[in-house]
Parts: sequence; structure tokens; C-alpha cells
Amino acid sequence: MDLHSSLQTAWTGIITTYRPGTIELAGSIMSQIIGFIIPATLYMSIDTLFPNFSQGHKIQAARRQPTRQQVQHCVRVTLFNHVWIVTLHAVLVYFKGLEHTTLNLNPTIPPWTTFITDFIFALLAREISFYYVHRALHHPSIYTYIHKMHHKYTAPVSFAAEYAHPIEHLLANVLPITLPLYLKGAHYLSILFFAVFELWEAAADHSGYDFLKLPPAELHDLHHEKFRVNYGTIGLMDWIHGTDVVGWDREKGKGKKKV
Ligand SMILES: [Zn+2]
Ligand SMILES: [Zn+2]
Repeated sequence: MDLHSSLQTAWTGIITTYRPGTIELAGSIMSQIIGFIIPATLYMSIDTLFPNFSQGHKIQAARRQPTRQQVQHCVRVTLFNHVWIVTLHAVLVYFKGLEHTTLNLNPTIPPWTTFITDFIFALLAREISFYYVHRALHHPSIYTYIHKMHHKYTAPVSFAAEYAHPIEHLLANVLPITLPLYLKGAHYLSILFFAVFELWEAAADHSGYDFLKLPPAELHDLHHEKFRVNYGTIGLMDWIHGTDVVGWDREKGKGKKKV
């Protein structure tokens, strides 16, 4: 049996066993554990398990790294963000009723080609929406109240990916990943696959390690270090707006005020 048939069999088992609301909520919780909690914990444990390797691959200098207390604080706030999002989701599912869902839980899963086109669509939609939300969060009238919190860690660690004000967590972290495919009416498995990928990418981007070439963690690490470069996730919108590393250097060379 090929992988697609195995996936179809597993999906058939799930939708004939559990109610739609249960599948919706369980999928959300599992994607957060598999996509973020586990990889972020693994990245953070490199420091303890392989200290020599860790020191050799940290992007920023040891003197810039957060203290143990700062890391513990970061983990607590990030876990809280996951808990309140799951709680909000659970409340919505409860009031909607477990028998109902607005998600596409079609008993027949889409072909691989649909999964791939959904993924590309979501990647572009997330890049565009995250870029503009992120740039808006850097506006001087907003920055201090909301986004400054995420920039506490100038040398980030994986859990710092979701160390954010609740408003930012919803607008910049949760909705750009989930909303485009939901509005497109994509199959729930497509939404979950993309969410797992993006959550892992966020953990990797903030890991502080240079051995990750895909995604290239240096891009977002530099945003934490320099603030006004690399607002996006894949580099496309930064390239268009000249806020990529090259653009930042260029503006800096001209002595212009950076946006
Ligand atoms: Zn960040
Ligand atoms: Zn920022």
C-alpha cells in the first residue's frame, strides 16, 4: 500500500471514529506539539547535551545569549500562548457543538498535487500577510506596546519564536498560518501539514543555530539582532521592498533613515 493509500485509510479510521469537533481540536493540539513543542525542546536541549557543538554553531556570540532565568521565563510565556490559543479554540468548538465544524473534513483526502498547490498557496499567503503585520508591529506608535516584547531576545532561542504579546501571537503567528487555507476551503489535513511545517520553521528560525540552512535561521536571527531587516519569512517580500539584508546595507550606506 502506498503512502497516499495509508493516509486515506488512517483518515477514514479517524472520521468514522471521532466527532468533527474532536478531530478539529485534537488536530490543532497535535500540530502544536509535533510542529513546535517537540522541535523547540530538541533545539534547546542541544546546549545541554552537546555543549561543544552548540558553542561552535551559535550564530551570535556567547556574551549575547540569554541567561538560564531568561530562557525559563521565555518557555513559560510561550507555553502560556499555546495554552490560551487551545483554550479559546476549545471554547469555540464547545459552543459550536462537537457534531459541527466549519473545516473541510472530506472523507476522501485530496491527491498529492492538491496538497502541494495548497502548500505553495499557503506559503505565499503567509509570507505576504506576516510581512505586513510584522512591519505594522514595528510602527513606532505600536512597537512599544506589542512587538517590543518579542524583541526582548536579541539572540533568540527556539521557544522565543512565540514569546509574544497575545495580540501579536494571534495576528502574526496564528492567523497567517491557518486563515488562508481555511478561507480557501482546503482539506483539514492540508492545513495541519502546513501548520506543522511553519511551526517547525518558526522554532528553527529562532533556534540561534547556523547549521540550519533550510530554513536559513540566519535571516530571522539577524532581524532580532538588527531589528530593521528581514521582516518576512522566506525573503520574497523583503526582496520586493528592499528590506532584505542587501537592502538594509544599501540604505545604511546611503545614510538614509531606515523604516
Ligand atoms: Zn522573531
Ligand atoms: Zn520584529
